[in-house]
Amino acid sequence: MIRYLCRILVVMAGLLWPFAAQASAFGEQVADMAEVKAVRIGASSDHVRIVVDATKELKYSTMALSNPGRIVINLSGAWLSPEVSRETVIGSRFASKIRVAQFDKTTVRIVVETNVKKENYDVFHMAGGAVPYRVVMDFGKVGTGSAENGDSAEPVKADTPASGTAAGSTASDGTAALPETTRPEPVFEPGVAGKTIALDPGHGGEDSGAIGPTGVTEKSITLRVAKEVQRLLTASGAKVIMTRTIDTEVSPKHRAATDVDELQARCDVANKAGADIFLSIHMDSFTSGDARGTTGYYYSKGTAAGRRMAAAIETAVTARLGTEGRGPRSCNFYVVKHTDMPAALVEVAFVSNPAEEKLMNSNAGVQKAAQGIVDGITDFFGK
Ligand SMILES: [Zn+2]
Repeated sequence: MIRYLCRILVVMAGLLWPFAAQASAFGEQVADMAEVKAVRIGASSDHVRIVVDATKELKYSTMALSNPGRIVINLSGAWLSPEVSRETVIGSRFASKIRVAQFDKTTVRIVVETNVKKENYDVFHMAGGAVPYRVVMDFGKVGTGSAENGDSAEPVKADTPASGTAAGSTASDGTAALPETTRPEPVFEPGVAGKTIALDPGHGGEDSGAIGPTGVTEKSITLRVAKEVQRLLTASGAKVIMTRTIDTEVSPKHRAATDVDELQARCDVANKAGADIFLSIHMDSFTSGDARGTTGYYYSKGTAAGRRMAAAIETAVTARLGTEGRGPRSCNFYVVKHTDMPAALVEVAFVSNPAEEKLMNSNAGVQKAAQGIVDGITDFFGK
């Protein structure tokens, strides 16, 4: 099943090549035009900023469309680098999605799905700095950024453990708060047998996650632990869905994927499988090597079941590993927020702590962490 999926991904990667051919097929004209090299997206609690990096100055025009609400920005005298993602889910209440395309031979068109009013978006150009030319689009609270700090928009963060901060900190995933929806509280039959459980080994591919003092990567530990959890749960009769089983990105865009693309791809795996629960497995890290312990995270506006699961897993992992419990804590991490089922994220231990790095790089540590996670899931469903 997974191998078949990988084959599809390879085929999809192959399909991207015609774009490269198309760009260069424009011939000499390309040399005079600006190349749109990157489209960067940043989101904060009060706005979304999109920054278009181009090799030279270009003209732009904007228009607003409704049903659904969109802002269209045409960049003339421009061609689009094949490196740029064609479609990205932003997932903010200020802008939900962006599409980028070569509209005609000399125009790159950007379509932002947004419902903000005229006074809540702004498009302006910016010259100088490391990038020769930029077009900046703000949605939400506008006019706060000067030209000097124009592209200082915070990147959309993959996961922000806010390690070492006070308990209960609401680490942001960079996306703005979505309108609250009441999620139905699921009712489960007891037992793990017959359950569909989605496991997400954090990071992978180009993204190593945190790196310990001796060079052990978070992505390698999370995969080892997840595979062991998969083995144990499968032996107990559960159906396990893995977001990845090898050292790779989950998004078919691979290294070209934005953080949001990558995180949404992980949610999609669980959502499409109709999993009963979702668990993302991570290793924590902090600037000081002293920070240690295990934390179970749940989405702050999620179900009570998500909170219960995070607590059960934290308790069981600390019991098996002998680590200190630091939570459970509420959070705003992308993967627990955008999955449809009760979801938790466990920071198993601190890879930045020399003792915990050593523990989690050993087979014994991996085995104990996995057994702890399985105990927690078993407790969560009840017997
Ligand atoms: Zn992580």
